[in-house]
Amino acid sequence: MPSAPWSTVQLAEFLEVFELLEMLDGVNMTRIAVDRVAAALDAEVVALLIDETVVRCLGFPADAVPVKLLRNAAEVRFSTLDAPGIGEVHSVSAAVSTAGCTMVVLRAGNAFDKEEETLVRSMARALGLAMTATDRLTESRMLAERLAERQYLSDRLAQIQKSISHRAPLQEVMDSITEGAAELLGADVVGLRIVGIGEGERPIASLTGYPEEGLDHFRSIPLGQGFSGRAFIEGKLVSTEDFSTTATELGADPQELIEAAMAAPVHHDGRIVGVINVASREVGRVFTPPQEEILLRLADHASLAVTDAVAIHSLRDSLEGERFKASHDALTALPNRTTVLEMIEFELDHTARGVPLSVLYIDVDRFKLLNDMYGHSFGDRVLIEVASRLRSAVREEDLVGRLAGDEFVVVAPGISAEDAGALAQRVTYQMTQPLVIDGRGTQLSVSVGVAESAAGLSSEELLGNADVAMYRAKTSGRDCVVCYDVQMRDEMFKRADLEQEISLGLKAGEFVPFFQPSMNLETEKVHSLEALVRWNHPTRGQLAPDAFLELAEETGLIVEIDKSVLDESCRQLAGWTRLNPDLTISVNLSVRHFAHPEIVDFVAETLAKYRLHGSRLWLEITESMVMANDAMTLEILRSLRSLGVRFMVDDFGTGYSSLVYLKRYPIGALKIDREFVDGLGSDLEDEAIVTAIIRLADALGHEVIAEGVETEAQQEWLVQSGCIYAQGFLFSKAISADATEALLSPAVTVENGLL
Ligand code: C2E
Ligand code: MG
Ligand code: MG
Repeated sequence: MPSAPWSTVQLAEFLEVFELLEMLDGVNMTRIAVDRVAAALDAEVVALLIDETVVRCLGFPADAVPVKLLRNAAEVRFSTLDAPGIGEVHSVSAAVSTAGCTMVVLRAGNAFDKEEETLVRSMARALGLAMTATDRLTESRMLAERLAERQYLSDRLAQIQKSISHRAPLQEVMDSITEGAAELLGADVVGLRIVGIGEGERPIASLTGYPEEGLDHFRSIPLGQGFSGRAFIEGKLVSTEDFSTTATELGADPQELIEAAMAAPVHHDGRIVGVINVASREVGRVFTPPQEEILLRLADHASLAVTDAVAIHSLRDSLEGERFKASHDALTALPNRTTVLEMIEFELDHTARGVPLSVLYIDVDRFKLLNDMYGHSFGDRVLIEVASRLRSAVREEDLVGRLAGDEFVVVAPGISAEDAGALAQRVTYQMTQPLVIDGRGTQLSVSVGVAESAAGLSSEELLGNADVAMYRAKTSGRDCVVCYDVQMRDEMFKRADLEQEISLGLKAGEFVPFFQPSMNLETEKVHSLEALVRWNHPTRGQLAPDAFLELAEETGLIVEIDKSVLDESCRQLAGWTRLNPDLTISVNLSVRHFAHPEIVDFVAETLAKYRLHGSRLWLEITESMVMANDAMTLEILRSLRSLGVRFMVDDFGTGYSSLVYLKRYPIGALKIDREFVDGLGSDLEDEAIVTAIIRLADALGHEVIAEGVETEAQQEWLVQSGCIYAQGFLFSKAISADATEALLSPAVTVENGLL
């Protein structure tokens, strides 16, 4: 199955060419148009005939054009012929303009299917319209105005094409066609009916410029009835500038005030399945030939949309949908992993030696976070959009599939990894375009891994290599493209092992909090404890967060780690109440955990379990979490605050903060990052920053804690500057629960250095 509504993409590209051609003369226009048609349909011969004369021909030597053969081909819509020098060819012909110009397309090999036939017709019409416009352009002094009109026409048609290629529901596409027709043709009423699509389905109808109550009646009118019925019966565009007389002749009721009308048939699978009709109430109104062309173009769009919808529908429904379901992903209708692997297998088997095949493995950055923050239906919409952007970014011959979750793939035949890299760049660019879902604006990015086929590689291995490269793209900062090389594999295995070990370690209770005190510099007593996780690894010994935190964040395992740290910290704190009833503890929260509304219940339950009041607990969050600035963040903060829990902004000064949020959100304390504390007593700039943070905290009524205090000079400076809380190796490293208990016990005095 093609990865995109192929014909729509082709037509859109063809139309794009005309944007450029506008500046060309008719000769160059037909030359380029013929080239494009040949390329789009993979055809050996494309010719243009006016009446009986061949005016342009691609595919035969100039002195040996088989005029008779081409005339024959022009006369019938499609047939099979014997072409000199080529052999048996399939032929399709279509009218380029009403002035007797016909396009003939000949192809050896595969016969033309319905979709291709419709495409040829659409392209021929597009060319006709462009040629008419060009003729006029050269004659007319109103060049600028016409260009604007053409631009508008192209834009409007492109808009409709977009809704088709994005697989908007058929009704929506039909509505956009009738609205487009009303605008482009200056018509007062436009109707479009499609009958007999799908079994037992009621006709699809769209009306513009008419009261909505009329829609059901309009839907029920048989296609062959009235003036528009002529388009159905005769199978061609019909037009009148004296509607009431024409209607009376047909035995129909002439509708009030209608002056001029046109109607054109809509095709599917070689038969007429609908009619589009337009009417004007303007006195003396006449629809011109270019306007007739526009209506035909719109009818073609409707045909394409119907063909596309039916193809998808029947694919989905075929074999009770089982085959489709088994081979496609339900959400995006893209081929699934099995089908993708089959396609790669097929390409590997059938591609001639030396012809490369590249695979792009695409993973949406921070998708889990979006899903956690905004919910699954938001996540689903994001994935559908990603699928659609992918389809529009790749070449027509590329296959787009969805492997699982937020992982997509593009199978790109015939190009090396280097060229595929350029394709991948196009994909990443497309993805970063702004996106609005449910009124919520967001920006996506993707990490892409590229791998090229090599002798002896299986489909699984090729896909695996692209996956490895994608993994490297993730670990080197996301939103980038990485091409596979062999060393990457080892690194990935290591990370996969680590992920597995973290999961097992969590089950075995290997993650425990250590505690680092923060001191009151005035009383020289412990003010609070910060829980910092340590991993008691069975073979590697005790590991600090930098050995596993990044991967835990990426995989979401951090949520479980944070929960166990919070639980164990509260358990210990409850036990230490007898030593210091006012002691508080602070626990670090990952952004992922914080985005979960369930965090509120979890904290409430944990506090209740250990009979702790919320005021004994601080949660450390970072500036970026606060800056996320959405209603849910505020809601979570407020709910937790109502339990008595307080918030500290960790690593303050390194992120991006806005004073507004610091004021609006229920924040209790700022922790000055070690980076600034480092230079206290020696670096004027650091001192200026820290002074500013202390003043800011003071002004906002927040406590302020200096992190990473290592020297007495730093401590001295802080005391002088009015910062009374500090944490750092000068006082203590993070220590085990037992050591903390000893520290808190009355026997230990707190004098420069706790240990
Ligand atoms: P953080 O919250 O800013 O914690 C302070 C880090 O600085 C700790 O590193 C601590 O050991 C270290 N530190 C404290 N005083 C000094 C000092 O005087 N000099 C120096 N050079 N370093 C000092 P650690 O334990 O390796 O933690 C690193 C980061 O990992 C933490 O930064 C925090 O962001 C994160 N983290 C730790 N535990 C957890 C946890 O349970 N959950 C989550 N989500 N993140 C955690
Ligand atoms: Mg912290
Ligand atoms: Mg910190």
